[in-house]
Amino acid sequence: PGTLHVVATPIGHRDDIGARAVETLRKVAVIAAEDTRHTRPLLQHLGIDTPLVALHDHNERTAVDGLVERMREGADVALVSDAGTPLISDPGFRLVRAARAAGLKVSPVPGPSAVIAALSVAGLPSDRFIFEGFLAAKAGARRARLTELAGESRTLIFYESSHRIVECLQDMREIFGADRAAVVARELTKLFETVLDAPLDDLVRQVSADPNQQKGEFVVMVAGRPAGEDERLAEGRRVFAILKDELA
Ligand code: SAM
Repeated sequence: PGTLHVVATPIGHRDDIGARAVETLRKVAVIAAEDTRHTRPLLQHLGIDTPLVALHDHNERTAVDGLVERMREGADVALVSDAGTPLISDPGFRLVRAARAAGLKVSPVPGPSAVIAALSVAGLPSDRFIFEGFLAAKAGARRARLTELAGESRTLIFYESSHRIVECLQDMREIFGADRAAVVARELTKLFETVLDAPLDDLVRQVSADPNQQKGEFVVMVAGRPAGEDERLAEGRRVFAILKDELA
């Protein structure tokens, strides 16, 4: 039987792709891609003409069966997403599950992921961290989740889009406290890469004041609850945030 190779691709700079990723994309029978229109230019740049099939959240259920069947018959398949590592806030989970369930070999070709790239330059404690992916788009659900995380002592990492970056930082300031250390990593490996590092209060001000700082892709990292901070203070903020939402 064939192997499913889970291949990371660049998160911005197109040269951030390793030799083994290139070789794998070249030699497999088919590449399952989140968006074939997005992956095609990358393959063109690399001089690769391996056939592509779409595998996104909407067709994953049906596309998976065909891909597993092909691997059973001996074909090697590569899985890629639009950027970074598949399955990390990206499609691919069902395919990996199905391949494993079918007893097929699933092998990583590791490479970029925004969460790790951001943490590696943040200067926040990195020995323990939790990755929260995207917060909910709706304010109530987002604030409820942040409230649950207010007492967490590990570094917190979130993905955020340009639409909500200001609101997201404002909610964090309110729920985690104005003094909590945080880092916003924007457009990593791209032309306008910026890493802002300040207490949440300053970050809200810097980002709200400058429309350029609200553009692009973001990783938001927040220091865990400081060891010295009174647990009751965190609890007080938690209760305050709940009451405020109730009254709103
Ligand atoms: N699979 C990807 C990975 O491994 O990082 C993540 C895909 S997720 C749909 C896209 C989100 O990742 C963006 O909204 C942003 O939060 C983050 N992201 C991706 N590329 C980034 C970059 N170059 N700089 C900062 N954040 C980035």
